[in-house]
Amino acid sequence: MKENTCAACDCELDATRIAVKIGGKTVEVCCEECAEALREAEAAARPIQTADK
Ligand SMILES: [Zn+2]
Repeated sequence: MKENTCAACDCELDATRIAVKIGGKTVEVCCEECAEALREAEAAARPIQTADK
């Protein structure tokens, strides 16, 4: 796994990268949309915690 790719879409990260904390570890994504996608994926993968929607 490369360090300089988005954790969501695998495109290369540039200066606009965003750090997202997922399950206790920090990953980097290329844009806010990817950050959102990861957060949603993590929420969906978890057992029910607090239903947000
Ligand atoms: Zn991305």
